Amino acid sequence: MALFFLCLKLLSQFYPMSVFSQFDFKGQKALIRVDFNVPLDKATRAVTDDNRMRGALPTLVKILKDGGSIVLMSHLGRPKDGPEDKSSLRHILSHLQTLLDKAMGHAVPLDFADDCIGQSAKDKSAALQPGAVLLLENLRFYPQEEKGDPGFAQSLAQLGDVYVNDAFGTAHRAHASTAVIAQFFTEGKKMFGLLMEGEVKAAEQVMHQASKPFTAIIGGAKVSDKILIIENLLERATDIIIGGGMAYTFMKAQGGVIGKSLCEEDRLDTALEILKKAAEKNVCIHLPSDSTIADNFAADAQTSTSPSNHVPDGWMGLDIGANAIEQFTNVIGRSKTILWNGPMGVFEMPAFQQGTKAIAVAVAKATADGAFSLVGGGDSVAAVNQFGFADQVSYVSTGGGAMLEYFEGKSLPGITAIQEK
Ligand code: AMP
Repeated sequence: MALFFLCLKLLSQFYPMSVFSQFDFKGQKALIRVDFNVPLDKATRAVTDDNRMRGALPTLVKILKDGGSIVLMSHLGRPKDGPEDKSSLRHILSHLQTLLDKAMGHAVPLDFADDCIGQSAKDKSAALQPGAVLLLENLRFYPQEEKGDPGFAQSLAQLGDVYVNDAFGTAHRAHASTAVIAQFFTEGKKMFGLLMEGEVKAAEQVMHQASKPFTAIIGGAKVSDKILIIENLLERATDIIIGGGMAYTFMKAQGGVIGKSLCEEDRLDTALEILKKAAEKNVCIHLPSDSTIADNFAADAQTSTSPSNHVPDGWMGLDIGANAIEQFTNVIGRSKTILWNGPMGVFEMPAFQQGTKAIAVAVAKATADGAFSLVGGGDSVAAVNQFGFADQVSYVSTGGGAMLEYFEGKSLPGITAIQEK
């Protein structure tokens, strides 16, 4: 029996029972930090991609169905000098209304406060009835938001009974609404929303509970952007696949000839250091044996193939080649945990997307065979979405920078603020 409770305790460290799902929001006013930083059409200011808004819907629906009310706070764009029309959250109001009505199956009362703090926000929040939603104006119209000003955070905190953070994309920032605010709510009255909970669980599964073999696929343009993540993964992964532009710095560091492929001359030593550390730690680094090369960085360039360490003069490697695809597919196929960050080539151009597409196929197949796969960080997320594989991997993270920092081993203020007692 004691062993059972010990196991449960250990498990709940990584998988705390969902506070959010168990919480009854009836009669409660939930103050939710969402990430509604969505792109708007320059002329009409209409929402052009509502993925982030739709991502928050399960959290909103649960609260409204419980009989609670909601105060939503978010940032939009990068306003520098206070309020400006192009960054007003008023522009997303009608889109939000449509999404809420559809998700709830009836018209949801939705109001807007044109200042996120102050008397009018207080009055509107106080007047909220169960089942109703209030959207606050852009938090970043106040510089205090990004400065993490406690007074500003306290003013926001007055607008709700319960604080819910569902904005994983800003979890790496110690801003007023993402971290500082949590201190004004007692334990049990501050929690992750469903979106954030999913991100945290997936990230923790990869970083702390990975079944082996654990393969990390790291691609993209530069070694310098990925050093910290690779170093942290050297402590955890069994295999690291390195593709994309950064592979050629590794090739050159080992004496290869890479033509005019991308290369960070000042990172040659770093690449050798990574290879040395990997050998010491028994981590297998897989570099692409061959490449699709081009005579020009252009969609209509002349193309050919070559070994990745023998790229002819005047040519550049823009994708992994057929042998590398086979090589990487085999490694992915025998993995039980997979983390993918960064494309294998210039996938934005059709001529150089075969590698990234093939890796998406391999990750999807491994997932169908029982592996846990997480795709996180900017361009690899765009790639799996573009190629239609998003629903064939275990988890696609919405938090680019935040996920990257998590995998670099940093603690995220937005997470620790909730977890701290
Ligand atoms: P990152 O944001 O570091 O993940 O890098 C993503 C970018 O790397 C994408 O825009 C790709 O087009 C680019 N990329 C990938 N492979 C290469 C390559 N071999 N040469 C140049 N750029 C590349």
